[in-house]
Amino acid sequence: MKNNKTVTIVARFQFKGTCKVVYVVRSSDGVGTYETSLDAGHATGCTCKSRKPCYHMTQLEANERQHTANILATPEAVDLFSLSQEELTARRIAGTKKQALLNREYQARTVAQQQADRENAVLQPKAFSVLKSA
Ligand SMILES: [Zn+2]
Repeated sequence: MKNNKTVTIVARFQFKGTCKVVYVVRSSDGVGTYETSLDAGHATGCTCKSRKPCYHMTQLEANERQHTANILATPEAVDLFSLSQEELTARRIAGTKKQALLNREYQARTVAQQQADRENAVLQPKAFSVLKSA
């Protein structure tokens, strides 16, 4: 069975700002390498001679799913691969608006409140260092 072969990953490259990933894998002769490309988690090609989709493509799709799952294990993470371009843009705008609202909220505070905020921010690490030295 073809699928029983294990893919040896030599390197994984992710193209910045894209969902494109290239895996460099060890070829079956144990010397050369193949390059398997994925886009948004889907294998799009491989430089080996096998019929496509080859076992590299199948296994690396699974590997990439695991890689994404590990990143998504944090509660605030969102599966960006599942979002459309419009949704991605909307999220970016929402993030900017949220920051602007927080800034406005901070500016709307009285000078006394802002002073208190700063003191709280400074007091916390101090309280910690006292505990540490005790
Ligand atoms: Zn292949």
